[in-house]
Amino acid sequence: MKTYLNFVNGQPVGSEQTFESRNPATGEVLGRAPISTAAQVKSAIAAARAAQPAWAARPDAERKALMMKLAEAIKQNAPYLAEWVTREQGKPLGGLGPDQVPGARFELWGCEVWTQVPASLDLPVDVVFEDDTRRDEMHRQPFGVVAAIAPWNWPLLIAIWQMIPSIRAGNTVVIKPSEYTTIGTLELVRVIGELLPPGVVNTVSGPGEVGSWLAGDSGIDKIMFTGSTSTGKKIAEAAARNMVPTTMELGGNDAAIVLPGADPKAMAMGLFWGAFINMGQTCAAAKRLYVHESLFDQTVAALKELATAMPMGNGMDEGMVMGPIQNRMQYDKVVDLVESAKQAGATIVCGGKPKDGPGNFYPLTLVTGLEDGARLVDEEQFGPVLPIIKYSNVDDAVASANRLRAGLGASVWSTDIEAARAVASRIQAGTVWINQHGMIHPMVPFGGIKGSGYGVEFGVDGLKAVTQPQVISLKK
Ligand code: NDP
Repeated sequence: MKTYLNFVNGQPVGSEQTFESRNPATGEVLGRAPISTAAQVKSAIAAARAAQPAWAARPDAERKALMMKLAEAIKQNAPYLAEWVTREQGKPLGGLGPDQVPGARFELWGCEVWTQVPASLDLPVDVVFEDDTRRDEMHRQPFGVVAAIAPWNWPLLIAIWQMIPSIRAGNTVVIKPSEYTTIGTLELVRVIGELLPPGVVNTVSGPGEVGSWLAGDSGIDKIMFTGSTSTGKKIAEAAARNMVPTTMELGGNDAAIVLPGADPKAMAMGLFWGAFINMGQTCAAAKRLYVHESLFDQTVAALKELATAMPMGNGMDEGMVMGPIQNRMQYDKVVDLVESAKQAGATIVCGGKPKDGPGNFYPLTLVTGLEDGARLVDEEQFGPVLPIIKYSNVDDAVASANRLRAGLGASVWSTDIEAARAVASRIQAGTVWINQHGMIHPMVPFGGIKGSGYGVEFGVDGLKAVTQPQVISLKK
């Protein structure tokens, strides 16, 4: 059984203790990864710190050109890395490109694009004031060392979102992948790290405790975190002790609202993928669907037709569209929430019973008959289950969307765009999509409000978020 290694200061690094990575579709052990010690975390941070001044001092054009080489290396290694994503995370290989099944090949395509775009962006000096007596310029400086803590749902893509803007802006990085999906990320960092000066990207690995050593270290200058709100709070406490700024991309419980007059057949596919992308294990997936009573039965029927037709199985088999739930903790959470819905008298439209056999397979499940306050509506299921709630008054649907602490994404569906815009502007969420859901883009800032976090990623604003402002003020 191969043990995969960390990448620190341009070198492979092992640890005395290791842990297994398992395939969620089969239970098969895929390999082992190191459990970094506290001393190894410190030494990865030290390598990043030592490399940072020279990296930041490089001409911008050189860093940009290198980033484009990283994108090319990701493309060249995409078949190998996509297999890691499928075998370790579970999502099927799927087709290529943005219009195909959003599987592992799509994830790698995203890694390539989300590397190219920051490479093409600039943060020019902004003259914020000038008169006869003075000139004041706003410059953007890197923070220094960025700690990146990544989750298991889109393990490579989210690692790229955290690392690439950071290094583009002149920071260096230490990243800790989730213990559930470590090896694919270690392999990705090795691929790009070999093209970079030693110390620019570094990895540590192991359980959450390793992440807490990283986040709590006084040698860190900025933290990028994606994961649960509860872990986010712990990281925010550690960051406060060191006065370190953070970008917090936390869980959501996105509402999708179907307005009267929408076209159920036309929107069904968009709604389906908005909810079930990556088996629902996506922070900005639709997790509560509010449908006007006039369209309720047609919408449920259209979604049922899609949900019962999608092939589910081992994602290495071509043609699979749905894979397993990534880990047992998440699987148990999904089972528990569906059982609680049954006990509350809900109707299971399809799915609702764990599948037999190996692997964390759970069928796509649609649930009706619930109201706000039911656990499946109020708690983030982060899995292949969608509660569909009937409403009669649009104001009530808006109130439902806004009543929880979550505020990552939301969507409004209608053939009347002005009506949809009017509702969208009343929803408390970082992004409100109209007639689509979760359609992120590398040029468009993305982030949550309320309990879903703070700070944005992507685009020029995302690049600014990994820099600190510095004013150069000149007396004339
Ligand atoms: P966590 O928030 O615990 O994990 C996210 C990352 O944080 C992982 O790398 C994890 O490491 C690390 N971590 C865990 N504890 C600490 C700590 N004390 N200090 C620093 N880093 C730490 O998510 P879970 O895997 O527990 O998932 C729980 C829930 O979070 C899900 O059910 C879902 O609701 C939500 N979630 C949201 C995601 C999003 O995209 N916003 C992504 C994943 C989950 P390790 O995995 O090794 O413990």
